[in-house]
Amino acid sequence: MDLNQTEELFHGLGQFAQERMGFKKPPTLNLMSDSENATKTLGKTAYYDPQGMSVTIYTDGRHTKDILRSLAHELVHHTQNENGMLNDSGYHGQGYAQKNKDLRKSEEEAYLNGNMCFRDWEDGLKQDKPTIYNERRYKTMSTKNWKNNELMENLTHKFGLKMDLGALNEAEEAEEADTIAEEQNTEEEKDEDEGLGEQ
Ligand SMILES: [Zn+2]
Repeated sequence: MDLNQTEELFHGLGQFAQERMGFKKPPTLNLMSDSENATKTLGKTAYYDPQGMSVTIYTDGRHTKDILRSLAHELVHHTQNENGMLNDSGYHGQGYAQKNKDLRKSEEEAYLNGNMCFRDWEDGLKQDKPTIYNERRYKTMSTKNWKNNELMENLTHKFGLKMDLGALNEAEEAEEADTIAEEQNTEEEKDEDEGLGEQ
């Protein structure tokens, strides 16, 4: 995995989103390793905490592109929060996207604007740098390596994303799983426009 390039992608998308969405202060970014959650087909992928102004993204077993799309989605919620548009009253339990009208609207906006932000950033990047198509897909990030390479510092300096590494909890088995995942991930990436994943 080329850490420099993965880092660049986070940083690049973050800046692009900030310019487009207009949020003032980048949120804290928590990258969460949770191997149990990763085994669940409909496990958690990401969430935004309006009080702490933080984005949490679950990283285990996920394609880098999918993780970045989650980031774009949650940055819409962050913008909504900064603008006082994230209504925290009303029903927040299971099925809130269907049962709470205001939150449903927030979700609609996050899916539409988040995904299109990601798409436009991605297409722009490929236009500026056509060789990126042929570069080896970055393995799902190993948070251990990230720590070693002080990605936190780099992200904070470049874009202002503060990362809370206290949230990381990488088990030894996860490391083994990583190795297996790496072998399986060498397959060429296909265009994946189909399928709007849960963000
Ligand atoms: Zn959402």
